[in-house]
Formats: sequence, structure tokens, C-alpha cells
Amino acid sequence: MTDLLIATTNPGKIVELQDLLQGLPFRLLSPAEAGIRLEVAETGATYAENAALKAAAFCAASGLLTLADDSGLEVEALGGAPGLHSARYSPQAGATDADRRALLLKNLAGQPQPWRARFVCVVALAEPGQPLQFAEGECRGEILPAERGDNGFGYDPIFYLAGLGRTMAELTRAEKNRLSHRARAVQAAMPLLRGKRES
Ligand code: IMP
Repeated sequence: MTDLLIATTNPGKIVELQDLLQGLPFRLLSPAEAGIRLEVAETGATYAENAALKAAAFCAASGLLTLADDSGLEVEALGGAPGLHSARYSPQAGATDADRRALLLKNLAGQPQPWRARFVCVVALAEPGQPLQFAEGECRGEILPAERGDNGFGYDPIFYLAGLGRTMAELTRAEKNRLSHRARAVQAAMPLLRGKRES
């Protein structure tokens, strides 16, 4: 079975990507399982550029077929912020996901509701000697002024899906993995992954 390295150190993302890629004919490896410790500076100007930087660096370090994602939350009333900077939205050293959610709500205070938003995810696939390949997914919703739910990670407790009447953090892992931006990006990457299995 071909090894597939999941190039992220974000524990929330590793769990989701492992679920989403389960059942494919690949042996999934986290960086820790592959014995790789790497911090990649996310200096790209787009999600695709950042996903490419991560996939290429982990692929070069491991020699393995590698999947990386770059994702973010875009809030309409904030001109698309935090966007590419979602993971580093708070300038405070050691800031947590809760700090970043609190800062987002502070910056939205006074803006007319609903606070429309979307999550975006770009997946990059890297294989030694092959061109990089990409797939993208998005999930639309709105930001709630108060947190709800304990599941997921990041901005999930304030990201509300009006059609379901629940926040992303009120969904089970299986439910989130049916409709999230990451699920949709991985779904879009399936033909690329099938090509890798056959190559
Ligand atoms: P990056 O892709 O490593 O740059 O990190 C993206 C950041 O966007 C994460 O650290 C979270 O703050 C946020 N984010 C991305 N996907 C999700 C998600 O599925 N739920 C909640 N927050 C997310």
C-alpha cells in the first residue's frame, strides 16, 4: 500500500483528514509517525500558495506522497478577514483558539447582523518528481455573537449553519466531515488521489 503523509501538525486537522481519507488504498501517516518535525513558514499570498509550500516541504523531507491543506475563515463584514491569517489572527503571543474567537467577535461588534462568512480550504498534493496538484472546497455560514458547542476546533463554536440550526462545534465529527470546506476539498481531490494510486 502506498504511504500518504498528512502534512499538518494541527491536531484538529489531522483527526479530520484521517477520517476523510479513510477507506482509500493508502497507509496514512502523520508527520510524527513519519518521524518528521518541520515548521513551514506560511508566506504565500493565497491558500493555494501556502498549501503548496507545506506539501512541497514535507514531500521533500519525507520522499513520500504528501497531502497538505491551507484553510481560513472569511467574514464579509470584515472584508474577508481573518482569511489567510486565521491561524495567527491575534497578535498576542501564545494566543489560543478562544482568544482568536474573542478578537473576531470584538471586531464584529456594532456591525449589522447576520455576519455572513465562509470557510475555505485548498488541498495540495505533492509527489516526488511530479507537478503539484490542487483541489478546493468552501462552506458558507454566519458568525454567531456567542459560542455554542464543544466539538471541532478553531472558529467552529461561532460558525453557524442556518440550514441545520447548529454551529460547526455542535455537529458530530461525521456530520462535519460531510459538509465542511475540508471535506469538500478532499472530495474534489479524490480523482487526483485515485490517479496517484494508479501511477
Ligand atoms: P492553516 O490552514 O494552518 O493556516 O490554519 C487555518 C486556521 O483557520 C485554523 O488554525 C483555524 O483557526 C481556522 N480554521 C480552518 N479550518 C477550520 C475549521 O474546520 N474549523 C474552525 N476553524 C478552522
